[in-house]
Amino acid sequence: MANKRVLITGGAGFLGSHLCDRFISEGFHVIAMDNLLTGSLDNIEHLMPLSRFEYYNNDVSNYVHLSGDLDYILHFASPASPIDYLKMPIQTLKVGALGTHNLLGLALSKNARILVASTSEVYGDPLVHPQNEDYWGNVNPVGPRGVYDEAKRFLESITMAYHTYHKLETRIVRIFNTYGPRMRLNDGRVLPAFIGQALRGEDLTVFGDGSQTRSFCYVDDLVEGIFRLLMSDYPNPVNIGNPDEITIKEFGEEIIKLTGTSQKLIYKDLPVDDPKQRKPNIDRAREILGWEPKYSRAEGLKPTYEFFKKKIKGE
Ligand code: NAD
Ligand code: UDP
Repeated sequence: MANKRVLITGGAGFLGSHLCDRFISEGFHVIAMDNLLTGSLDNIEHLMPLSRFEYYNNDVSNYVHLSGDLDYILHFASPASPIDYLKMPIQTLKVGALGTHNLLGLALSKNARILVASTSEVYGDPLVHPQNEDYWGNVNPVGPRGVYDEAKRFLESITMAYHTYHKLETRIVRIFNTYGPRMRLNDGRVLPAFIGQALRGEDLTVFGDGSQTRSFCYVDDLVEGIFRLLMSDYPNPVNIGNPDEITIKEFGEEIIKLTGTSQKLIYKDLPVDDPKQRKPNIDRAREILGWEPKYSRAEGLKPTYEFFKKKIKGE
């Protein structure tokens, strides 16, 4: 892949920075673009000295310009955790809609292949379990999470329109809950919340009765799935996630065991429209990409816990 140039939006974020690492290690010239709304230069500072790496501070919802050739675009810019998109509803809608439109236009002008980051949230509070790509979802467009869910549904729709109308090479990944080093301790997602609370000697806050489920995928597995999808010739959405489903209460108990904390679970109100269950059906990824996750939760949690321990020490 020498001399191939890839633009990664949201490149200073959690997933974007891991993608930058992967494409650098594959020999690409990587251009990261970010406005640091929720990301941090700390995530990519190790790449800055490399001649094959460039960083631009830019809000992709306004406009996107790049000189030179471009072979691939990965559009990952967007607030992604519930507390982020509840705090920034308009930016979230704009980057999913206007930002995606800008990047599709750039892809067209450069004749580049584009992969866009969608989410399991397009299934909303799903009535089908586990969720396969043919399920259309159960989303409340005017609920608090609607700003994220509908932005991502629009992202998929406009991406498919560029594919069918302009014959652009497009890929859509539906990402299920992913975790790993470089998550922010205070991003509100359950994994950093629980580990952060355990490390600070606080009780772990379970929302609702904890019977809701999630399925957590380690970041290296996700990156592998995304890389394979980009290199495939498949334009329809593909779920990438780990089907190992667990209730939030059991997950809290698992974190208590992992960290050895003497704190306990405490129960708080369940946020509005919080999905009751979530588990990917990954038959399509298996069949088309030959992909499935390799890391168990126990294996993925180890390096993640080490990362958070160091972070807390530096806080
Ligand atoms: P993150 O918040 O760590 O990263 C998002 C990055 O996008 C940040 O660096 C932020 O500064 C940047 N950004 C936001 N708006 C921007 C704009 N207008 N212009 C330029 N940059 C902008 O979140 P993440 O977990 O790394 O998520 C990355 C992508 O993956 C998002 O599109 C998200 O919807 C998607 N996703 C993530 C998960 C997950 O479990 N982490 C699940 C489903 C989908
Ligand atoms: N959650 C929780 N305690 C927390 C943060 C989240 O019980 O401190 C719950 C949340 O209500 C949801 C699940 O954990 O049911 C996963 O939440 P997260 O924000 O990580 O992701 P998402 O809801 O987007 O899957």
